[in-house]
Amino acid sequence: MDRLIMIKYGELTTKKANRKMFINMLENNINKILKNEKYEISKDRVRMYIKCDSSSLDSIVKKLKKVFGIHGIVIADKVNTNIDSIKEKVLEKLDDNYKTFKVNTKRADKKFEIHSMDFNRVIGGHVLKNTNLKVDVHNPDVLINIEIRPEGTFIYTNEIKGLGGYPVGIQGKGLLMLSGGIDSPVAGYLSLKRGVDLECLYFESPPHTSVEAKNKVLKLASIINEYSGNIKVNIVPFTKIQEEIYKNCPDSYIITIMRRMMYRIAEEVSRRKNLKVIINGESIGQVASQTLTSMIVINNVTNMPVIRPVSCMDKLEIIDIATKIGTYETSILPYEDCCTIFLPKHPVINPDLAKAILYENSFDYQTLINECIENIEVISNFEEDNFENYL
Ligand code: ATP
Ligand code: MG
Repeated sequence: MDRLIMIKYGELTTKKANRKMFINMLENNINKILKNEKYEISKDRVRMYIKCDSSSLDSIVKKLKKVFGIHGIVIADKVNTNIDSIKEKVLEKLDDNYKTFKVNTKRADKKFEIHSMDFNRVIGGHVLKNTNLKVDVHNPDVLINIEIRPEGTFIYTNEIKGLGGYPVGIQGKGLLMLSGGIDSPVAGYLSLKRGVDLECLYFESPPHTSVEAKNKVLKLASIINEYSGNIKVNIVPFTKIQEEIYKNCPDSYIITIMRRMMYRIAEEVSRRKNLKVIINGESIGQVASQTLTSMIVINNVTNMPVIRPVSCMDKLEIIDIATKIGTYETSILPYEDCCTIFLPKHPVINPDLAKAILYENSFDYQTLINECIENIEVISNFEEDNFENYL
């Protein structure tokens, strides 16, 4: 294995007491995401090292770019520790795009007889003689890093930016209310970024909603799963509850009450699965059910913490992230969701809690909720199937 990938930890280095736990979690996550690759991993307090063959380098780096908790990815070439090999490799790594350079040697192997500063001069002199580059010790275009270690010498120049954030799972798991829209996948991604792993909850209302709508949600889950590796989707058969609301409650309160039912179900599912928070894609003021007054009345059914990562973002900011993470194209596919199908002409913007309670008590929703939960379908094979073929 002649290639070495060095991984620099992100924000976790500031958390002194938990450092070991963070690093171990990151290592587990990397092992999970690279499980089909050939590599060797090792680590110390400041970095992780992945050795691999040149042939699998691109594929491994591509996967590492989706791992939270990685601050930077550096690809190093390994050569035998002798001056000529090092000189040759250094020249190989330079090109005309660079005008200035600096050499930075680290001598981890003290058996190597030339001191770091002296070796900087040896290599610097060689570069000056063989290229048009000039030295700039303060702000070089290219920093030539040479690490002399017992097992060989590692040479690298550029660093690829990692995703940052915390290792997924370090904060336990939350329940993401995942619809086929733009907002909820982004909310899921942002939660993963802070170390909260996810299960998803999707409410479907067949035959009012189509199998395409469901597959769209599964496709979105499979995209988010690339940042987690652990995602499951719980599909809730929501038809009966929706029909009862439609039959028994005034039009303007349909959405308010429907969302109160969703939260009740989300809370119960979280309780049973020991999930710590509910996460959703609500954004303040986006629609009638997301005014602050609506949020208060809807949130009133649960004491669980509800995290709304996109609550203060503009739609365009949310779209930017959706595009970056690859969910946007799928989210805009035109399949009806249960919310849009039962959408009344004039949903209440400032609902009254007492009225919502009065209206929903006109039918036995608790029995229907229990029935929904008993009949949840769980899908978890996102590793093997990316659901591409379903759309
Ligand atoms: P998105 O908000 O994801 O773009 P949307 O705009 O269709 O989709 P809203 O009506 O704004 O959804 O609902 C707000 C949030 O409620 C969603 O972001 C999602 O978290 C949750 N939600 C809505 N419909 C569903 C559903 N069918 N299944 C699960 N969660 C849902
Ligand atoms: Mg929305």
